[in-house]
Formats: sequence, C-alpha cells, structure tokens
Amino acid sequence: MKQSPVFQTNSLQANTPVTYVKGIGPKRSEVLAHAGINTFSDLLYHFPRRYLDRSTITPIAKLRPGTEATIVGKVLSLNIVKTRKRPYFQVLITDDSGQLRCVWFNGAKYIQNVFNVGEMVAMSGKVEYYGGLQFVHPDYDILESSDYATLNTARIIPLYPSTAELKKVGLDSRGFRRLFHRYFEKLNWQIDEILPREILDTLKFYEINRALRQIHFPDTIEELNGAIRRFKFEELFFLQLLLAVKRRSIKEIKKNLRYDTTGTHLKSIYEKLPFELTGAQKKVIHEIWEDMKSETVMNRLLQGDVGSGKTVVALLCASIAIGNKYQAAVMAPTEILAEQHYRNLKKLGEPAGITVRLLIGGQKKSERDLILAEIESGTAELIVGTHALIQETVTFQNLALVVIDEQHRFGVLQRSQLIEKGLNPDVLVMTATPIPRTMSMTLYGDMDVSVLDELPARKGRIITRIVNVDQLDKVYDYIRKQIKSGDQTYIVYPLIEESAKMDLQAAIQGFEYLQKRVFPDFRLALVHGGMKSADKDDVMQRFSAGTVDILVSTTVIEVGVDNPNATIMLIENAERFGLTQIHQLRGRIGRGEKNGVCVLVERKRTETSHKRLGIINGTTNGFEISEEDLKLRGPGEFYGTRQHGFPKMKIADLLVDRELLKLARREAFMLIKNDSHLRRPEYSNIREHLITHYADYMNFVDVL
Ligand code: ADP
Ligand code: MG
Repeated sequence: MKQSPVFQTNSLQANTPVTYVKGIGPKRSEVLAHAGINTFSDLLYHFPRRYLDRSTITPIAKLRPGTEATIVGKVLSLNIVKTRKRPYFQVLITDDSGQLRCVWFNGAKYIQNVFNVGEMVAMSGKVEYYGGLQFVHPDYDILESSDYATLNTARIIPLYPSTAELKKVGLDSRGFRRLFHRYFEKLNWQIDEILPREILDTLKFYEINRALRQIHFPDTIEELNGAIRRFKFEELFFLQLLLAVKRRSIKEIKKNLRYDTTGTHLKSIYEKLPFELTGAQKKVIHEIWEDMKSETVMNRLLQGDVGSGKTVVALLCASIAIGNKYQAAVMAPTEILAEQHYRNLKKLGEPAGITVRLLIGGQKKSERDLILAEIESGTAELIVGTHALIQETVTFQNLALVVIDEQHRFGVLQRSQLIEKGLNPDVLVMTATPIPRTMSMTLYGDMDVSVLDELPARKGRIITRIVNVDQLDKVYDYIRKQIKSGDQTYIVYPLIEESAKMDLQAAIQGFEYLQKRVFPDFRLALVHGGMKSADKDDVMQRFSAGTVDILVSTTVIEVGVDNPNATIMLIENAERFGLTQIHQLRGRIGRGEKNGVCVLVERKRTETSHKRLGIINGTTNGFEISEEDLKLRGPGEFYGTRQHGFPKMKIADLLVDRELLKLARREAFMLIKNDSHLRRPEYSNIREHLITHYADYMNFVDVL
C-alpha cells in the first residue's frame, strides 16, 4: 500500500493525529478512526492480542488430537476440495517436523485470498483427527519470512487484533507489526508519562515508553509481564480516578440542614420493634447516622441479601430525619412494592407518631391532591412512592432523606435532577443484589458502601431441591397437598431478553397447561412483564389476599414482594436462570413461620448447568453465590444492573486483576484527596488524559 508522504511528520507526540504519522496517511486514518484510533497515542495503545514465542509453538509432529496448539510453518499448497456435499478450502502447512492440514468450511472465498504459497504463517486451534491431523477454522496470522529465524533466536512476536476493514488497508496483524517495528526501531520519539512519578516509583511500574516498547516487542517474558502490569494498572487507575472525581463532586455538595440529635422517634420505634436488631443492622445505622450528621450530602449504597432487614434500617434512619422536623421519602421501583413498603412502614411508624403517606400513579385525583398538599405543607412526614415522587411536580416542605429501594430497577439515579429541584437530600440506595466486592468497587465506586452481612434469625428455612421432568408429578402432588392445607405457590418461568417472545409464549402455554391439566381444582393466575401495570397489581393483590393459590409468572416477582403465606416456589428451566436470580427468587418464600421449599426443575441437563445449580443447593450465602456467578458468567450480568455508561476495560480484567484494582483504587482516591481538582502542575497530564478520554462518563457536577 502506497502512502502519501506529504503531511507526515518526524516529531511524533502522543496527540499527533494519525494521518500525520508515518505509514498511515488519510486512507488508513479514516479506517483507524472507525476503530477508535485517532492519535499516535491511540495507535500505540493498540496492543497485541497475543504473542508467539518458541515455548508456545508445537512442532507439527508433536501435535496430539484434542489439545489446543499453535504451529508455525510455510504454506505448501492451497486447494478447494470438492465433495458431494459442499466444497471446502484446504491449506497444507509444513514445518521441519511434518505437515498439517487446515480446513475452512465457511468463508472459503475470502480465505483463499489470505494465503500465498511459500509464506510463513502461524495457526492456532484445536487439533482434530479426521483421516489425519487437522485444524478446522484455525486462528491464523501471516508472518514475515524472517520471523522463523526470529523465533529461533528466542524472540517474541506480537500478533495484533484487526478487522476486515483494517485488513483491506493492509493493517492485518502483519501490517501492524511492520508499522510498530518502524516506530520502535527507526523513529525517535518519546511520549509523556501519564501516571504520577511517585506511584511509578513506589509501586515499581514501568515508565510509559519502556512499557510501550515492551508490550509491542518484548525482550523477554518478564519484560512483557512488567509492561502488561503497568497498562492494566493504568487502565484501572483512570477508572478509579473517574469514580473518585465523581465521589468528590458529590461530597462537595453542602447540605442546608443540620442534625444535633437523633430526635425522639428513633427511640420509640426501636423500643416497639418485635425483634432485636442484628449487629449488622446496628452497625449500618451508625454509619448512616455519621453521614447524616456530616455537613455534606450522603451518597451511600446499602447492600444486603434478601431478608437481611433493609426496610427497618431505612425506617429508623428516616425517623431521625423526621425527629428533626424534616421529611423523608422512600422510593420503590414498582407500585406493588411501594404499597408493600407503605403498609410495613405505617405499621411501625404510626405508633411512634409519624405521619406516613403513599404517592403512586393509580390514585384518584382528589386523594392525590390532598396528599400533595400534605407533602407541601410538611404534614406528611414519611412519603412512600414510586419515582413519580421526585419526577413530578411534587413540592416537599423540607426533604432531607431519600431512600431508594432496589436501585437496579431504576437505572440511573437522577441525582442531578434532585439538585436542580433545589433539594440536597441525603441519598441512601438499597440493593438486594449481592455484588461481589471487586464489582461494587467499580459499579458503585463513587458511593460509600454499607453491607448488611448478617441475616436475622428466621423461623423458617429454605429447602432447595433439584428435580428432573420425571419427578414433576410427585412435586405437583406435594403442591396440591400443601395448598389444601392453606399454603400458596409460585411457579416461575424464565424470560431472557434474547428470546423474550418465545419465553413469554412458553410461560403463557405453561400457565394454560397447568390450569387445565395439572391443577384444575385450584385458582391459578398469570403475571408477566407484558401486562398493564394495573392488571399486574390486580393479580398480585389477589395473590397477597389469598384468593389465588398458584401464581404463575415470569421473573417479574423477583424483586421484593412479600407474601409470608407462600411457601413453595417451583422454578421451570432453572438451568436458564442466573444463580443470583434464583437466589433472589427463592428469598420470596419461607418468609413466615413455615419452611420454604424451592424446587428447581432442570430440563436440559449439562455438566455446567448441573454444577451451577449445585452451587445454589450448597449455600444460602448471596455473596458466595454471586462470586460464583461472576466466575461462571463473567461481569456482564452485573454491568447490566447499573445502566450508566461505563468505560470498557481493554486490558484489565476485573475478575483476575483484583489486587491491581485495589491498588489503583487506593492510589486514585488518595490523589483526589490530596489534590481534589488535579490542579497541581505535576498532575496536568493526568488531568488532561482524564478529560480527553473520559469526558463521556462525566457530567456537569464532576467538573474538574
Ligand atoms: P430485605 O432486606 O429483603 O428488604 P426486609 O426488610 O423485607 O428484608 O425484612 C425481611 C423480614 O425480616 C421482615 O419481615 C422484617 O420485619 C424482618 N426483620 C428485619 N430485621 C429483623 C431482625 N433483626 N430480626 C428479626 N426479623 C427481622
Ligand atoms: Mg426489601
């Protein structure tokens, strides 16, 4: 590919646009822009996806079927092989020890143009036996003819990620290798360090130019590991810096209220509680009280497994605000949950003299107007509702505390909206999703975190059983027997986004089948996310009132609904649920005096699915379960729970790099503590890097 030399420059800097960088030019720079590469620095951060060295290469003669391997050799021949079914493409590779066949059944047209006879290539894949050893659809890289010699001198060869579009302009793995070779061997440049000197020194990270050279052309494996360690840290450091800035910007918001005492309500509610608080509840209430007393607003996440008793914590904190003549609001994600909270909070709060009100969409206008007036005058002290509470034209007399329950159903917390309304209340977010520490450090990294890590002693236990389809009749018999003695049952069907339509269909059909064929003598009802909210509420109400025996649902009941009389939960196609999801679902039963029985119906049994369900069976500790979920399914599930844009990690792995993450967090938060706006001249690079690379994740309150 010929490149125009006209604009190209010899003075390379981090922010030099790629068009002006040697070997790029306008055409390539356009394509690179699509891959997010706009500057010389972006280009340098296009890291190899893996490396070849002698120790990772297997001689063809030593390949064993069933293993993963990488070979390096010359292309001996290229053929389209015609068969009775479908033609396939075949490449024969030879090295000093033997020959190997590589075949492609798909994309033969494209792949024929990739290889040339006599070229050096690296192939990676699973060794299969089919009348001889072969790779099917291997991962391939074209090498230079000199690379063989390079490998023999124990050098390490970088292999780069690429796209079809990049390949068209010559930027396949080999193309990138040639470019970088030129930058590192032929040109003279240095880019500025973006990590603080003292961190590099004390934590012994490579300086940026050494790390760049070693990540592209490592001298040794040790050097490579050193370079990777630096860039992982760098990525995590900026992520944590972003969070530290967000947290700091919230911490700067001064409250216009003061607490000198906890007031009288706290004590009177506490004394009337029908149980003793757990140690964890006391500890958490103390943490929240410290925040409330502070001059700046609270931004705290309260994590507690299902049943850990978050509601009473919220009530006791609200009672402090109310005892000081302020108002408190509790927001729930659905009307059902808001009503449930309302009933519970009223039961405990009213005897202490607190006026509790409910504000939801479905209220009559006259009733609503009355409540709105009470909120405005301050007569209503504890207001429970949906997010209509802050979004609509609700005027509080003096709102001091907002409690948000089950945050993940809300999506983004509209703190800026609250501020714009002129309210600077303390915010407590409660979630029952047990988020592993590593994840919460990131997902909720801008908040202070309290954990309810102790469950109240319960009267009932939850017994979990895994069954297959053959055992279902027995389970149905058991359910009939229990219903006759007055219990209620949940039957839950999976519904995942990718197959939502089919899943919904399956749930509806399941419901009809159950009503007609299995439980004709009982009262069944169906509830799912596609129903109107009034209809949903109606069904839930009937289930709560006991006029429905079996509630068939998709996962809509997952969050918070409390019916102490429901003792059985049957989960269909349990293998399709996330572990955390099953754990939360089963937290709905055994809430009363009796034991709960959770039956997991495993329809498609695989080794992994069985192992996963075994974990659910083995522990009732939500944190353990979510750690396992994280290991088995990756962090995607957890990202989904907080819908704000979140920088993607390119090189760091939040699961693997926990130690680096902790270091990065400590250093980033320390930095912001010492120089809250990164104004010191020695941090100007960091500041600039943060602003140019993370602007999308900041908003007006985060301004540096
Ligand atoms: P969650 O954290 O899932 O929201 P809840 O607040 O709904 O849990 O509490 C679950 C049940 O446990 C409620 O019935 C509540 O009254 C009860 N509970 C809360 N704290 C305690 C305690 N310390 N001892 C006994 N029961 C408690
Ligand atoms: Mg709750």
